[in-house]
Amino acid sequence: MNIVLFGAPGAGKGAQAERIASVYGMVHLSTGEMLRSAISLGSDLGVKAEEIINRGELISDDIIVKIVDARIDEDDCVKGVILDGFPRTVAQAEALDEMLAGKGLSLDHVIEIEVDEPALFARIENRASERRRTGTTRSDDSAEILRRRLAVYHENSAPLLPYYRAKGLLRSVDGMASINGVAAQIDNLLG
Ligand code: AMP
Repeated sequence: MNIVLFGAPGAGKGAQAERIASVYGMVHLSTGEMLRSAISLGSDLGVKAEEIINRGELISDDIIVKIVDARIDEDDCVKGVILDGFPRTVAQAEALDEMLAGKGLSLDHVIEIEVDEPALFARIENRASERRRTGTTRSDDSAEILRRRLAVYHENSAPLLPYYRAKGLLRSVDGMASINGVAAQIDNLLG
């Protein structure tokens, strides 16, 4: 089973993706995490990505597509992947379709976690203060960057909703429920 978990920044995709991966024996593939680890390793990719991420902008489609393509070929992905933060543009979605088809695979579900934006700001603020407390701050955690990330989401990523709806793959869950409530809705869909 291959799943895309979709939603605005701060919708809680990471936590849900992690849980789905462990419950269903799939691999959680977060492009944001891959980029952050490239940054901490100081690789060429990391150096290029850092400034873009800190502005709340997107890394170019061809770079991201190459990374995902290579990762999906690794052995642990045979049971299926849960994609978190990818695709983020229609061009990435088209590349994903092509990439999966080339490997004899396909997407089974696209799950949208729906949240309202004022609630997102509250969440991101909580997350930032929790990270400040635990010393694990993410450099793109400020309200100002979130505003930019949301604008980028509306402009580049929201068009994926009609894209996947037209393919009959889109399912939505209420992301304003508790973490367990969202998880239960997802289990229902995957049931
Ligand atoms: P995330 O952890 O998914 O919120 O991603 C953090 C940041 O990494 C994003 O704001 C982008 O700058 C970059 N990023 C992650 N995934 C992608 C993607 N699929 N395409 C372009 N940029 C991405």
